Amino acid sequence: MQEFYNETFLNAQKQLDHVAQLMNLDAGVHERLRYPRKALIVSVPIKLDNGQTKVFSGYRVQHDQTLGPTKGGIRFHHEVNLGEVAALAMWMTWKCALLNLPYGGAKGGVCCFPEEMSVNEMERLARRYTTEILSMIGPEKDIPAPDMYTNENTMAWIMDTYSNFIGYAVPGVVTGKPVSVGGSLGRKEATGRGVAHTVKMALEKLQLGKDEPTAAVQGFGNVGSITAKYLHQQGIRVVAVSDVQGGVYSAKGLDIPRLLSYVAERGTVVGFDDLDTIENKDVLELEVDILVPAALANVITEHNADRIKCKILAEGANGPVTPEADLILQNKGIFIIPGILANAGGVVVSYFEWVQDIQHLFWSEEQVNEKLGYLMGRAFEEVYQVSTNKKVDNRTAAMMIGVGRVASAKMLRGLYP
Ligand code: GLU
Repeated sequence: MQEFYNETFLNAQKQLDHVAQLMNLDAGVHERLRYPRKALIVSVPIKLDNGQTKVFSGYRVQHDQTLGPTKGGIRFHHEVNLGEVAALAMWMTWKCALLNLPYGGAKGGVCCFPEEMSVNEMERLARRYTTEILSMIGPEKDIPAPDMYTNENTMAWIMDTYSNFIGYAVPGVVTGKPVSVGGSLGRKEATGRGVAHTVKMALEKLQLGKDEPTAAVQGFGNVGSITAKYLHQQGIRVVAVSDVQGGVYSAKGLDIPRLLSYVAERGTVVGFDDLDTIENKDVLELEVDILVPAALANVITEHNADRIKCKILAEGANGPVTPEADLILQNKGIFIIPGILANAGGVVVSYFEWVQDIQHLFWSEEQVNEKLGYLMGRAFEEVYQVSTNKKVDNRTAAMMIGVGRVASAKMLRGLYP
């Protein structure tokens, strides 16, 4: 199935092959997990504000549905392609299984430049894309959510478009919606909250929490900014953050609450407090205790891995470290919290949102956060135990748990017909 081959997909496959060998995974199950179960490519034509028509490429990939309906975000980004979406769908399968959520993995996206589009154009794009993938999604089939450059507004449009086709309101078709249309309290903050939670647990395990630890965050979208907020609240000195336009650095630590208001107004961290600027790629190489790549995939490769100086690397993004770089970082003794664990808070609260929508019964923010903390804490402990007992790195341990759960369910269900 060479259609899926690109760097990110081959990296995801390589990670699976590695753990399959270590676990002595059944060859048939391994083969079935190496490719997505279903993939759809669609043309998404919309009228631009200037009256012209433009056609975008859209994708939805469902990797595996052994444990339940498929789940995963939709991204609007100019680097979206079939292979990347397939890799992200595969990671969602392991992430959901690791957190014990009754889902398989999926992902979707539209290749476009969202920064250059108006809100109206984005709405038309979201609605037409939803129409094109309509046969694939549904609360019992496949449940999209936000990802890069999509947000709760996008989810409201998707929910509305789907509901119009069905004939009544179906809030459970997407998660990450605004609270007023069936969203969950705490969902918007969930991914960043989860990242910060795993960092806290790592600091405890490594006994690094006593002095004021330092952190750098690359990417200041939903995940990066909320992570910075909670790291700051946990008493961690965040010395650098960056977004697509550039970064800011202060050895004394950034005033994160004020920075968040600044970004809400200006749309970028650049220019904050007239601080020293730092290039996006240099944020990764700072001498800090904690590094959080929270932007794109493949930002740490064999070319810069030996210059990474953190002690804990928490993957806010999906797939920021290539397999080659992973080995270099492990040899340096860096404690990596893999994305399928570190950034799982988002899909955990998505699961809570879906459950609330199906039951028409809504929880308080305290209930959501408490349950999130419990699931993240349990998964972190499980990964830590497997990594210690089997003497493997955290990513391998996390994948062994996730892949193992999917594989044993596959064995029990058997192969149809
Ligand atoms: N896009 C997020 C992720 O990569 C969230 C997915 C979801 O909530 O379904 O985990």
